[in-house]
Parts: sequence; structure tokens; C-alpha cells
Amino acid sequence: MQVFKFGGASVKDAPSVRNVLSILKSHANTMPTLMVISAMGKTTNLLEDLALAFFKKDRNLRDLTFEKFLHYHHSIRAELGINETESWNDFLDEFRWELECEPSNTFEYHYDQIVSKGEMASSLIVSEFLKSSGFSHALLDARDVIITDDNYREGNVDMQKSEKKALEYCLPVLNKEKFVLTQGFIGSTVENTTTTLGREGSDYSAALFAHFLNAEKMVVWKDVPGVLNADPRYFKNPVLLTELSYYDAIEMTYYGATVIHPKTIRPLQNKKIPLWVKSFLHPEKEGTKICRDYTEKNKKLPIFIYKPNQILISIQPKDFSFISEGNLSVFFSIAQKYKIKIHLMQNSALNFSICTDFFPDRVFAFLESLKSHFKVTYNEGLGLLTVRSKNLAYDYSEILKGRSILLIQKTRNTSQYVISENE
Ligand code: ASP
Repeated sequence: MQVFKFGGASVKDAPSVRNVLSILKSHANTMPTLMVISAMGKTTNLLEDLALAFFKKDRNLRDLTFEKFLHYHHSIRAELGINETESWNDFLDEFRWELECEPSNTFEYHYDQIVSKGEMASSLIVSEFLKSSGFSHALLDARDVIITDDNYREGNVDMQKSEKKALEYCLPVLNKEKFVLTQGFIGSTVENTTTTLGREGSDYSAALFAHFLNAEKMVVWKDVPGVLNADPRYFKNPVLLTELSYYDAIEMTYYGATVIHPKTIRPLQNKKIPLWVKSFLHPEKEGTKICRDYTEKNKKLPIFIYKPNQILISIQPKDFSFISEGNLSVFFSIAQKYKIKIHLMQNSALNFSICTDFFPDRVFAFLESLKSHFKVTYNEGLGLLTVRSKNLAYDYSEILKGRSILLIQKTRNTSQYVISENE
């Protein structure tokens, strides 16, 4: 069997949904296929606003945002020629009911109940469209399979329980129907409460299904030709990497390459399942194959990754003593408490610095907490440039031109620069 993942951009409007059907007709006919789908277009962002309005009890904003959600999905349904159905009406009733209640739990909990509706809506619509087009399939609720703890917004998947469920629920349906459609990004606790796996988590869901069901391959269908050696948003003339090792793919996503979610590779690598990144605009083209632990292919190409919106935070002991292991352990426990993801760190005798994403709420709370232990300084408005290259003599000074460099770190194959964002 194979697993397909279609993200939000691939189902952002009616013509895109039709394009998905044509890809399925030509690429899902060779073996049983399980398809994982994301919320349509930018729905997850919209639902994040809705969750916030609900939680703050801002009824006007809540109703306005819900209307936008309805309007967007209804216009896609109409353009696809899907009539009102009982399942869609039931789904909306449940959603409205959810929004009418008073917030009674943490924001994270309500976030998951509301934001998960994006994937539910998109899978329902696509399923109804496939049905009306005579494409035989089964619609599976991913929450019956992906079991997580109750760490809302970032559910940790219980691999054993989920694997058991996947074999119990998916396999028989897949054997019978040959095509199963399900949602990415969402899961459920053992008590049947909906959870989500973190933003952009659908790739990870797809990799989990592939792992549990021993897929022959997984394909992520994207709006780019495959994995490029540089992000076209920031670099000119990127080149397609036809093959990548799991190792390089993990490193790239870790440093900030957004083409696939960082957690995606491990479940595939463990079972040596190849991952293809292909374009839904040119499905006939090869794309990138991620496989093997090591490959010589494309080794000569340097890889450029740019992570915008970074902050560099530095601490010094208040008594001007040296940075010690004791200081660092205090620092790391505070970082863990505020879910600070460290992308780079460097220390000297008197200073310890990290580079992390600038999420204002989280970062300012973290800084406040640090201040009771350390002298703290920070710089905002930065980016993290990572260059992976076998050949460190490669000239990339052009990219750094006109930017101030705040910190450099180099290993044999990787150079990282904390730099000012475009001036
Ligand atoms: N819809 C979710 C998001 O936008 C998950 C995903 O698409 O991967 O983050």
C-alpha cells in the first residue's frame, strides 16, 4: 500500500480539488492507497482566530470568523456541485454547539476542539466530491487511530496504541475499498477527546499511517517541484534535489526547511519507507525521493536554509562569575518550561547565547523568568542562515551582503549565521 498526503494548498479551491481527483485516478490505481488531507487553504489560521475569539468571549468576532469559515467552505461545495448532505449538516450543528458553550477548560483544549474542524470539514467535502464523481473510497476518522496524550496543541502520539488501532481499523477497510481518505493533524486521547499534533502536523500523521501500515512508499503532494537546495522565497535559482538521504532531510527540516515537517522522516526511516515529494501541479514529474541513510547524489550542491523571525538571547551570571553547568541547567529548565526551541547555542566564559523563534508571548514570558536568575540581553529582527556544504570554500558572500552578522558557528559541513533580517 501507499500513503498520499495532500496539504491545504492542494485543496484550496474547487479547481484544486478536481485536480486532486485527477491525480488519484492516475496515481492511486496501482495499489491500495490511504490519503491524508489537511484543512483547505488557510483554514487553520482562520480557525486559530476563531479559537481565540471564542476563548476571549468576543461574540462578534467569533460569529464573524465562523461566517467566514462557512462562506469559504460553502462556496467550494457549491462550485463542486455538492448538495446539502446530512453528514455536513450534522458536522455544522456540532460545530455551532461547540461554539455556543462557555469556555470551560484551558485555551489549548478549546483550540484543539475548534481548530481540528478544518481537517474534518475538508475530508468531508473531498469525500462527498469523490462520491459524487463515482470514485469509490472509505472515509476514516483519524481520531479512531491516532491516539495521543492530553498535551493539547502538541499531542504526543502513543505509538503502540495507535499502531494497534491502525491495523485494526485501517487494514480491513483498505483491503476492501482499496482507497481510504482520512485527516492529518488530528488525534484523540484514550478518553475520546480531540487533540492536534502541532502546526503543519499532517505530514507527520501521514508518516505515522505509512509506518503502522508498512507502506511501500509515501508521497507528499506539494506546490513546489520537490525539495530544492534553497527556498525560492529567499534565494535565487534554486535547484531540485532529485534524491536525498533521510539523514540530510532530517537535518534540513531541523534547520528550518519548511517543505516537510521535521517529525515526518523518523517513522519512515525506521521502516525504510521511501518518501517522495512531488508537485500536484506537475504530477508526471519525478520530484524528490528521500530514502536510504546515505546517498552520494546531489552531494556537491550546497543547501541553503533561511529561518526568518528569530531572536538571539544572551545571559550572563548576575554576579559576573563564569557560565557554569549549574547556570546552564537553570537556563534549560526555564527554556523547557516555556517550550523554547533552541536552533543554535554558543557559550563563552561569561556569556551564553541561543537563537530561537520570536513568538512574542512565549519569548517575553521566558525572558521575564530568566531575569530573576541572570542578566539578560536580546536582539530581535533576525534570521538564521544555515549553509550545508561539503565544500566550505563555496562562495556565498552574496547572500550575506548588506546584513550584519551577529554570530557565526561552523562545523565541517555546516555553517550557521545569525544575521539581521533584510535591511
Ligand atoms: N492544517 C494544519 C496546519 O495548517 C496541519 C497541516 O496542514 O499540516 O497547520
